[in-house]
Order: sequence, then C-alpha cells, then structure tokens
Amino acid sequence: MGWEPRTTFEYDSAGRVAASLREVEWDEEQRDLMVALQEFRDTKICPLCGGLKKFCGDSATERLIEPTVVRCYVASRIEAERDKESAENVKVQQPSGRTWGARMKSPI
Ligand SMILES: [Zn+2]
Repeated sequence: MGWEPRTTFEYDSAGRVAASLREVEWDEEQRDLMVALQEFRDTKICPLCGGLKKFCGDSATERLIEPTVVRCYVASRIEAERDKESAENVKVQQPSGRTWGARMKSPI
C-alpha cells in the first residue's frame, strides 16, 4: 500500500519502551514538491480541458486538434437516475446538499 512512516522505539534497561520517534510523512522536500506541483497546475494547466495553457490558449491549436468523446457510463447512469427522480417529481429536502455517486452492486 505504498510508503508508510515508520516508528522506531527506544527501550530502557528493563526493556520497556522509553521513547518513540515517528518518521514525518511529509518532509520539507516533499512539501516543496507538492507546492511546486500545485503552482504548476494553477498556472500552467487549463481548468477546462486539463491541457497545457500554452497549447490550448493558442488559437492555432484549434486547427490541430480533433475532439473526441468518451462516454462515462457511471455519470450517464447517475444522470438517468436524476432524470428519473425529476420526472417522478420526487420531493427532497435541501436537494442542493446532496451529492450523487455510484457503487458496484453486490454480486447475486
Ligand atoms: Zn484548455
């Protein structure tokens, strides 16, 4: 499951745990890398298409790309359920406070 911080123990002369030291999960270098990654995403990545702003912000790009569509069957199924609920005029309290998701059905 990936890296987990380790804990090392120090023992006294009777063999009892006298101290423990846990590795830091995010050291300074890792934090700097994550901050740099976020800055890169915030400044260089287009929030609309996920591409590089340098590429998708150039009008010449329009001639170079061919849009593709991939259906997400999870999103489609959720939308169908929302439509069904709406068509059935189901009343729900604070509907904007709900989030929709999906899970696998239990095997029969
Ligand atoms: Zn874009």
